[in-house]
Amino acid sequence: MPRHDGRAPNELRPVTVERGFVRNSPGSALYRAGRTTVLVTAHLSDKVPPFLEGKGVGWLTAEYSMLPGSTPTRKSRGTDGRSTEIQRLIGRSLRAVIDTKALGPWTLHVDADVIEADGGTRTAAITAAFIAVADALSSRFGEAAGTILRDSVAAVSTGIVAGEPVLDLDYPEDSTAEVDFNVIRLGGGGLVEVQGTGEGGTFSRPQLQALLDLADEGIDRLIQVQRETLGIHWPFIV
Ligand code: UDP
Repeated sequence: MPRHDGRAPNELRPVTVERGFVRNSPGSALYRAGRTTVLVTAHLSDKVPPFLEGKGVGWLTAEYSMLPGSTPTRKSRGTDGRSTEIQRLIGRSLRAVIDTKALGPWTLHVDADVIEADGGTRTAAITAAFIAVADALSSRFGEAAGTILRDSVAAVSTGIVAGEPVLDLDYPEDSTAEVDFNVIRLGGGGLVEVQGTGEGGTFSRPQLQALLDLADEGIDRLIQVQRETLGIHWPFIV
């Protein structure tokens, strides 16, 4: 069965990135995947959480929130269980590419705000956060940013909709999916995290493999988008 928006099973929604959207933040990206729109900013502070004091290593922490007008039914401000889970996921994903020793006693603060939600907001936030973090680090540390960022990281959603494995679900697909499967992966290929749920059913090993293959295709393209967006910063990142 064709997808409701006519995309091929392995086709991403159109992605656009406005790098440096917020001038007051040393790193920021307004990121769109179809109608899903996320604003991510990154700031550095010269403090670390108490459990890291005196150890000479840095930290990265993240917050995620959906703006009240981002969903069809108004979303109340404040942190619910879902946003707590997502902000921790964003933090783990970005820490996977940060050398905290090379960073030294600084904390990177990543803030992801969903302006419009149409499926895949957590994965959009992670892909955009990498761009904001790279710029915040470059702005503070110059070329040394390349020793702090060890690799790139990007994320994409996949799922099984009407029996078919598909890439980058929008809300109509997400809300009817039989399997919901988010993948976070490094540019170098290593998996950081996978989140897979059979929505009221189960899924097979071959289906799992098909979803991982789709995610690989999508993430390869998103890493390319990050590379094109960051341009001159990339020589510092292997
Ligand atoms: N959604 C919503 N209100 C909520 C949570 C989710 O409208 O409180 C919608 C929104 O479009 C979101 C989608 O459901 O993108 C899928 O939500 P999920 O929790 O799977 O996270 P996401 O796919 O955004 O990472």
